[in-house]
Amino acid sequence: MTSSNHTDSEGSGEALDEATVERLLDQAELASGHAYAPYSKLSVGAALLMPDGNVVLGCNVENASYGLTMCAERNAIFRAVAEYGHEAKPTALAVAAPGTPIAPCGACRQVAYESNPDMLVVFRSEERGLERISARDLLPHGFTFEPSP
Ligand SMILES: [Zn+2]
Repeated sequence: MTSSNHTDSEGSGEALDEATVERLLDQAELASGHAYAPYSKLSVGAALLMPDGNVVLGCNVENASYGLTMCAERNAIFRAVAEYGHEAKPTALAVAAPGTPIAPCGACRQVAYESNPDMLVVFRSEERGLERISARDLLPHGFTFEPSP
């Protein structure tokens, strides 16, 4: 099987211009408006840029059984798999929580890494303002597993 929709940059978001990054952050912030976060009160949104230029949104969805809560980033990535299949590698992931610096949690870093280690991840951190980093650099020594044939 051959994959389609790959650009010559192999899905790397390194070359994304500032306008695209800002647009993704705005979309992530808008998506946070759909968050269901009655427990943490922290509404988070994610915007995932796909190779065809479309954007897949996600938000955090909490549950009274706290362990069942799902982050915005993983919701967006899992939704993209459902819509595009796993072969379509996202180009960039923006994460935003209005008024609050936010960074992807460890679980979301692992899922982003497996989705596309070259994907650009952008978010606003307290220490350094706007962060632009690849999923690979965001999760050094990410877990990989090659199933037996
Ligand atoms: Zn997370």
